[in-house]
Amino acid sequence: MADGGLPGGGDAAAAEEGWVVRPVTGAATTKAYRCPGCDHLIAPGTPHRVVWPEGTVEDRRHWHTQCWARRHAGPRRVRRTGRRG
Ligand SMILES: [Zn+2]
Repeated sequence: MADGGLPGGGDAAAAEEGWVVRPVTGAATTKAYRCPGCDHLIAPGTPHRVVWPEGTVEDRRHWHTQCWARRHAGPRRVRRTGRRG
């Protein structure tokens, strides 16, 4: 595969189309945020992610790192209904 993308691109892992994802160490965090993924609080000092729609930084949300990852890795609609056609 021709990887003719960005030379020396560092963290391309979290590239979400239409989303800006920023890792936060939590070291400078003094307040708890509510994670929209699990609806629990992110305790101060906890490394997590800040995510917002491109161009709308005011809508940023704080996610647990795992919750953000699972949001994509584990689709919720795995549920199978027994009905067919
Ligand atoms: Zn969470």
